[in-house]
Amino acid sequence: MNNEIETMKKLIDNSNNTVVITGAGISTSAGIGDTDHWDLPAVLKMMSTTLMKIAPKKYYNAVWKSFLNQIFNNGPTLTHKKLAELENRNKIQGIITTNIDHLHQLAGSKNVAEIQGSFAVNKCLKCGEYYNDINIWNKGKLPKCKCGGIICAFPVYAHVGQLIPEAEKARKWIELAELIIIIGTNGSYYWSYGNHINPNAKIIQINPKHTFFDNKAILNIRKKSDEIFNEL
Ligand SMILES: [Zn+2]
Repeated sequence: MNNEIETMKKLIDNSNNTVVITGAGISTSAGIGDTDHWDLPAVLKMMSTTLMKIAPKKYYNAVWKSFLNQIFNNGPTLTHKKLAELENRNKIQGIITTNIDHLHQLAGSKNVAEIQGSFAVNKCLKCGEYYNDINIWNKGKLPKCKCGGIICAFPVYAHVGQLIPEAEKARKWIELAELIIIIGTNGSYYWSYGNHINPNAKIIQINPKHTFFDNKAILNIRKKSDEIFNEL
């Protein structure tokens, strides 16, 4: 085991309250692109409620190809699974994510704050009924409400908004955290929780790239998270 991993292990073992913050970098090994590898036309298609209404088949196929296929067929990454394991052993108290892929819960994590919502937070555009289950997207076609309306995921109908109850949960967790592990995020949505970070919390960052967390972290591990969690 190298020194960085040993240090991280000690910090986790000695912490009574550990919160993890994850971004796109944790899901790239499942084939979901981060902001540097965005297929922009595909993302624009995914965000278009107009396309959803006028060409539901085309919409579904586009979202399937760039996103849903990776979620349902590749599934959670090694890091997602290890984090769920750590939570299960009571070593992690919460995970805050900006990802909309729901992979933390699919890996078995329970305490997850999806501050941008996800494909598990869905609403009928006609009657407003909620459908909080990602599996409605795994049926080969665009999900439809019992009223006949189109069902749409939160990040799409909210135009990448903040899901307030989830953000509130995240703030409560981060105020109590003794240790914060930041994985694969450049700090998008930091405005939503940053002010609430316990000033005495120790921060570990795992990211091959430089980010603005670099000088907040006591330990910067410049590797992909799967490499690290594989050895943890
Ligand atoms: Zn409806």
